[in-house]
Amino acid sequence: MKWRIWLLSLGITLLCVLIFGFASTQVYYRSSVDDGKRFLHACMNSFDADEYPPTTEGAKAFSDKLDGARVTFMDMQGNVLADSIAGDSAVNHLDRSEVTDAIRDGDGYAVRDSSTLGADMVYYCRSIDGMLVRLAVFTQSDWSIFASTLPTLLAFSSVMIVLCLAASFIATHFIIGPVKKLAAEAAQSETVTTRYSELAPVADALNARNRDIHRQMRELTAEKTAVEQARASKDEFISNVTHEMNTPLTSIHGYAELLDGGGMTEAQKKTAYKTILSQSERLTNLIACIINFSEIENDNLPPYDVDFSAIVRETLVVVSPEAQKRNIAIDGNIADNVIISSRHERLNELFGNLIRNAIKYNKDGGKINVTLDNRSLTVEDTGIGIAEENMNKIFSRFFTVDKSHSGKNGGFGLGLAVVKKICAKSGWEISVESEPDRGSKFTVDFAPQQR
Ligand code: ADP
Repeated sequence: MKWRIWLLSLGITLLCVLIFGFASTQVYYRSSVDDGKRFLHACMNSFDADEYPPTTEGAKAFSDKLDGARVTFMDMQGNVLADSIAGDSAVNHLDRSEVTDAIRDGDGYAVRDSSTLGADMVYYCRSIDGMLVRLAVFTQSDWSIFASTLPTLLAFSSVMIVLCLAASFIATHFIIGPVKKLAAEAAQSETVTTRYSELAPVADALNARNRDIHRQMRELTAEKTAVEQARASKDEFISNVTHEMNTPLTSIHGYAELLDGGGMTEAQKKTAYKTILSQSERLTNLIACIINFSEIENDNLPPYDVDFSAIVRETLVVVSPEAQKRNIAIDGNIADNVIISSRHERLNELFGNLIRNAIKYNKDGGKINVTLDNRSLTVEDTGIGIAEENMNKIFSRFFTVDKSHSGKNGGFGLGLAVVKKICAKSGWEISVESEPDRGSKFTVDFAPQQR
């Protein structure tokens, strides 16, 4: 780029010098022609016909007086009568413009390349006393003026070239310097500014590009984090599943070995059979829970309008024997026709998990209050409650407060994780308030963003 700027300014400088050379040549040439005309006019005024008769001697005498200017005498038809320089005296000059102008108007000028003398000449012709007197002096031709100024012009050009290169160097330094600085700054920071208004569009373009790159980087980082989180979550899930499966399998394997070894009493055998049976049930439950969880997690089926009131009432009927067994009273405050855009199995799962937990973690003789309207569902119990430090963990997969009870009644710590997943997919919000030993209250808000 620097070289281009240098070459361009060099070319412009040379062109300017040449134009200047030609123009000044023309000005000088015109002024020297004008000088010649003025000189001849003044000389003509000093002409005296008596003193200088129209003979070669008279012409030469007048010429001597005029420092060698050419003097020609002609009759009024343009025929040469006498000439101060040797030439063809029988020539007729009627074809010369200064002669015809003098015959017509009294006097006339002309400038031309004289064929006789081989140089540019200025002619002035005047009619005086019935004859034509013509004076002529040399003038430099424009080419000879140009040739004589050429050395000066070349010297001037050389100086100009050096000055131009120096100026271009300084100019390019001042032009390219801020551009380089801007590029370096753009590589360092997201937004750059410049005090040069000419570079403002460049700065804007760099800023736009930088913003794009930073946005893409943020997206890529977010994607990477999400992938890493998903991988960590998957690893954790697998490790939890393995852990949950390990306990019943170890138990089944141990009792099976004991039975195989023989020598057990009938009572011991009964215990072994019972344990094997219950542990295999636990395994089956675990697998069912995992399949259920994974189905809900991957369920992208479209929602439709579901009568949630009906589902809540039906579920309460289903779980009431379990509650009655422990003398737990369920009070329902269920609005009619609560229509929710979801899927039947999702709402069944959501309410089923909450109400079963309310029974499971209740005290014998406790109470449960279920409220449903178009805005929310609340399941409140008077059970064991949840400690403050566990409030955030209960929605995590495989989290159970009391590990010794884990697996009982299918409790693998997946119920609330499923509830949370369903809420997240539907845009609902689940919250919990609880006090240890006094009870818990779970609320599902169907339109959290409207509040
Ligand atoms: P689980 O299968 O163990 O019930 P959940 O995901 O349903 O798994 O619940 C996770 C944990 O949250 C439970 O182990 C329990 O400690 C606690 N929890 C859930 N519901 C209640 C409740 N209504 N009252 C007290 N604790 C509860």
